[in-house]
Amino acid sequence: MNHFEYRDGRLFAEDVAIAEIAAAVGTPFYCYSTATLTRHYEAMAHALERVKGRICYAVKANSNQAVIQTLAKLGVGADVVSEGEARRALAAGIAPSEIVFSGVGKTRDEMRFAIEAGIGQFNVESIGELDVLNQVAVDLSQTATVVFRVNPDVDAQTHDKISTGRKEDKFGVDIVLAPELFQRAAEMPGIEPVGLAVHIGSQLTTLDPFREAFTRVANMVTDLRSAGHKVTCLDLGGGLGIVYDGEEPPEPTEYAAVVAETVGDLNVELTFEPGRVLVGNAGILVTSVIQVKETATKRFVVVDAAMNDFTRPTLYGAVHAAAPVNENSGSELTESEIVGPVCETGDILASNARLPALAENDLLYLKSAGAYGAVMASSYNTRLPIPEIMVNHAEFSVIRPRPSFEELLSLDHMPKWL
Ligand SMILES: *Cc1c(COP(=O)(O)O)cnc(C)c1O
Repeated sequence: MNHFEYRDGRLFAEDVAIAEIAAAVGTPFYCYSTATLTRHYEAMAHALERVKGRICYAVKANSNQAVIQTLAKLGVGADVVSEGEARRALAAGIAPSEIVFSGVGKTRDEMRFAIEAGIGQFNVESIGELDVLNQVAVDLSQTATVVFRVNPDVDAQTHDKISTGRKEDKFGVDIVLAPELFQRAAEMPGIEPVGLAVHIGSQLTTLDPFREAFTRVANMVTDLRSAGHKVTCLDLGGGLGIVYDGEEPPEPTEYAAVVAETVGDLNVELTFEPGRVLVGNAGILVTSVIQVKETATKRFVVVDAAMNDFTRPTLYGAVHAAAPVNENSGSELTESEIVGPVCETGDILASNARLPALAENDLLYLKSAGAYGAVMASSYNTRLPIPEIMVNHAEFSVIRPRPSFEELLSLDHMPKWL
């Protein structure tokens, strides 16, 4: 459920006509709906009430500070994977104690920054990282609160490139090593180990992998406790899938039921790190037609957004439904390939989209582009970085402007010998 709907054949985001935004800011742009963000947060928060989990929004899904702050005002903490994301979360008003620092490769500088900022939890992914974190904490005369991200060797049954919990993936420590890590950590003056974390992948559309992973983690908690370790926290990661094009992902309540069933009796504090499920359907990508190009076999609709603005289709073969901003109901639908101007054959935003007759400057939009969209954008082909717009009821605001060519070009500096 989202707040992008047609009214008399014209697409609206809440009470703002998309065409009105396009006229004001130009295309392409991302557009987010506050009401949809709120709704998705509430669905998740409500479902997780029964297990009393805290929600630490995975900032990497959409790290615009206006998005983070909208969710922060609703009560989320943050899951961050870099110093930059930590700084964004802090700037958006999230308390350091409610920030979880994840990621397989935290540098010493990042650890130092995070400890000095008072970040509440470090999700440690290797023995080597534990040693370094201890050194950094001791140097600062501080203690880092640590959970160990374990790799449960569970296949999330999602796209290969967003699967993270199989033993051949780079993430986490083999779950059987958890007791050894707790033992080591107990002897380290700079580390306080409090629990385990698990995150097996993204865009999961079935519950079984969650059930399997959480069960393995629950069994390990029991083992750790019988070995005399104190386990007070479990971080169950994110990963819940959303509807892009006909998927049937589990409802938050069904997900919460699996949590209750697997770890509900352990008497631990639970943290969740949802990203996509909070922001994915709260955003669209709006673009306009440059050219319609008929070849012997296909109709190519060349638009002004491209793979540099939105890379999911190219990177993951992601399927995003596409539709016109102004419905043209009289026109016959033709199978079309929506492509961008970038000089790469992979620059395809949508294949097999069924679209009406289109002309130059007609507006199209891609649905469910709120997660892993703007955050992955680049300026490849020296295209201007794409702006982001947020709608709230009848108002909209540019939450990241499109820079000028002068600004973009001024980022390069000439060496003195030229
Ligand atoms: C990416 C990531 C998430 C969020 O995943 P979603 O599929 O967007 O919910 C949560 N935790 C960690 C450690 C991640 O890397």
